Amino acid sequence: MEEMDTPDELVSYLTPREKNEMMATYQNTTAIACPACGDPFDYLIVCKQDPTSLSLSEVMDLCVSTSEDGNPLLYTHR
Ligand SMILES: [Zn+2]
Repeated sequence: MEEMDTPDELVSYLTPREKNEMMATYQNTTAIACPACGDPFDYLIVCKQDPTSLSLSEVMDLCVSTSEDGNPLLYTHR
């Protein structure tokens, strides 16, 4: 799998799931590599407000980067 140049480009390869005013969630259905650790991630969570609270239903490993707009991006790993 090719590495993505930007997070915004990366989002276009993901499947949109939940979306609200605080955050948007995308599922990685094509095993795209996490920009932080290189392993495929399960979900990308785009935080649209600062601060944002997340309620995670299970314990997950997280990687974090920042979008071109300065929004925090969370990559979840099971
Ligand atoms: Zn990662």
